[in-house]
Amino acid sequence: MAEIDRDVLKLEMTGWRHDLHAHPEFGFQEERTAAFVAAKLREFGLDDVAEGVGGTGVVGTLKRGSGNRAIALRADMDALRISEQSAAPYRSGNPGIMHACGHDGHTAMLLGAAKLLAEEGGFDGIVRFIFQPAEEWGKGALAMLDDGLMQRFPFDEIFGLHNMPGLPIGHFETRVGSVMSAEDIFEIVLRGLGGHAARPHSGHETLVAACALVTNLQTIVSRRLSPADISVVSVTELITDGTRNALPGLARILGDARSFRSEVSAEIECQMRIIAEGIATAYNVAAEVNYTREFVPLRNDAELVDAAFAAAGTVFERGNIAVAREPMTASEDFARFLDHVPGCFVFLGNGEASAPLHNSSYDFNDDGLLFGANFHVAIARQRLAT
Ligand SMILES: [Zn+2]
Ligand SMILES: [Zn+2]
Repeated sequence: MAEIDRDVLKLEMTGWRHDLHAHPEFGFQEERTAAFVAAKLREFGLDDVAEGVGGTGVVGTLKRGSGNRAIALRADMDALRISEQSAAPYRSGNPGIMHACGHDGHTAMLLGAAKLLAEEGGFDGIVRFIFQPAEEWGKGALAMLDDGLMQRFPFDEIFGLHNMPGLPIGHFETRVGSVMSAEDIFEIVLRGLGGHAARPHSGHETLVAACALVTNLQTIVSRRLSPADISVVSVTELITDGTRNALPGLARILGDARSFRSEVSAEIECQMRIIAEGIATAYNVAAEVNYTREFVPLRNDAELVDAAFAAAGTVFERGNIAVAREPMTASEDFARFLDHVPGCFVFLGNGEASAPLHNSSYDFNDDGLLFGANFHVAIARQRLAT
């Protein structure tokens, strides 16, 4: 089969990336992006291209040889509700929405890999190209899974990547086990009886109780969980219906919790309920706790991390491949796929000068495109060796 000129492909991927960047779409609204992806996959001659999987998701399938083993390569397509600060000719044309997390780059890289694998082959088995919607609010992977992803497009293992600002271009990192955290969000509502600020004893106001609750929630991580388990409980909002001369009868406490094991997430919720009920009783008010899990923890499979490092060795310079020192207390929807098959999530440098992710000045670095596409291809060929 003909070998694709990598320099030409890099230019082509850059064109796709700029096109996607100029037309960012919020989660589950990636209509144009999904159509763009599906059209490219068909143009590359994939065996099957399915659209509308879990809303706006796209799954491409490529088969070579007689092998039945299947691996999945995944990219995310959604943008964020951030107003872009950029003078680039390809800056966002959709006011208030921008690709501030580089998902335009991830999509372009996986399209590049699909083109390379379709044209050049070099593997025996099945490659699924998964373009998921709505990564940013942690709903897209579940939507695809609920739409029968594993039954309709089965695969044995999955790989994904994310660009990382601060890490130089051409650098590669990952690690065994915990990579990214779970994200839980909570709301605690305290209900009492508000009243005149001069007569606190005649009601059951909620502000002092809420303050005690906020203080006591700090003991979940510091006194109730093992110091060996990394976790964060952050109270981010305290809202009451009080005014300057009226004590509140209602208080709402909102926040966010991060952890790396589902047992720890369960324990945070359990301790939060104990504290909320105890404080409510002590202050003569009622407490209601609403605790939901937005993202599950992302844990890499040890064998597949070895495989990813080996594949990276054929793409990145030896000295640019490193074991990530510590897990991140940020979250990734990729983790949902790992409830079904083992997988590995890796990080690629976006350059030291890159603005942080989710920053209005952020832009994906096109010099990383070929590294990402080549890594996808290398891992597919290695896991589905001929
Ligand atoms: Zn993001
Ligand atoms: Zn992202």
